Amino acid sequence: MKKFSFLALIVSLIFMLVACSGNDKSSGSEKGSKEELIGIAMPTKSSQRWVDDGNNMVKKFEELGYKTDLQYAEDDVDKQIEQIENMIVKGAKVLVVASIDGTALTNVLDKAAEQDIQVIAYDRLIMETPNVSYYATFDNFQVGVLQAAYIEEALKLKEEAGPFNIEFFGGSPDDNNSYFFWDGAISVLKPYIDSGKLVVQSGQADFQQAATMRWDGNTAKSRMENILSKAYSGSEKVDAVLSPYDGISRGVIQALKGVGYGSADLPLPIVTGQDAESASVKSIIAEEQTQTVFKDTRDLAAIVVKMTEAILAGEKAEVNDTETYDNGKKVIPSYLVDPVSVDINNYKELLIDSGYYSEDDLK
Ligand code: BGC
Repeated sequence: MKKFSFLALIVSLIFMLVACSGNDKSSGSEKGSKEELIGIAMPTKSSQRWVDDGNNMVKKFEELGYKTDLQYAEDDVDKQIEQIENMIVKGAKVLVVASIDGTALTNVLDKAAEQDIQVIAYDRLIMETPNVSYYATFDNFQVGVLQAAYIEEALKLKEEAGPFNIEFFGGSPDDNNSYFFWDGAISVLKPYIDSGKLVVQSGQADFQQAATMRWDGNTAKSRMENILSKAYSGSEKVDAVLSPYDGISRGVIQALKGVGYGSADLPLPIVTGQDAESASVKSIIAEEQTQTVFKDTRDLAAIVVKMTEAILAGEKAEVNDTETYDNGKKVIPSYLVDPVSVDINNYKELLIDSGYYSEDDLK
């Protein structure tokens, strides 16, 4: 009896060992051998979201055993190209790139393709190259819709007679997303502009006039100062500012406060934003900025990790959009995450209860 159970133990141990080594093999070949290097090229540390995006991806990739090379180019296009070249030399297997200038990476991505390195465009589409396998982003048109719908609701444009004054800010003209944000917003606001219920006193109502190179908050501040002195020196006041990004919103608010907005007599206008940067959520809590759009970078990082694993296993990655994002060479299979509108009424639930920020982060 004793002998029998000892034998049974040995047999079951051997069985378990064989089963485990079988498992190891299959996960190794399914997911690609770990230790592989993933290059992550981010645009700048000057905006908090990209810092969070980078950290989230590194954390997730390293938990799975990958090595990562995370680089920030401080909005310098040549520097980003050089960083990507270095990743290729270091033997990266997949490149995850949030571009600075979406049209500037054609040559360097040709080099990546020569080494069979696949590329995932991260949040910003990389233009004019066939060498992009996937695009992971948010529903960028919807971002603009959320911002404009917030203005529509806050000014009660459906019910009130108006007219109301609005000024427009656009994103960087070298970022494909900027056009989607703009088009989404204009799709909501156009009828009110056409009917005269919304008036752009500066006359700067085209994307090119409203665009903000490299999303720079100081550039936006100067433009807003100019608009205020040229178009609002009389009795007109600004009722709303469509801003596509929190850094721009804060620049605009500084310009407005500089000429006296933010008092009981002259309240700040509705000012939208994007990214739920902590500085802007604090501004919302202080009742200066009115709204932002929250894009959960944890979700985007998770999508990119799944895409990378599929690429390395020689499989197709899961996507939910195969029509919208044409980069000039081909339509890039994309995964779009939903953005959410945030204001003073729901920031706690969306940003604190979800663990994105702690209460202290927003003090
Ligand atoms: C991103 C936005 C961000 C902007 C400025 C865009 O490409 O989609 O989330 O606000 O760049 O960094």
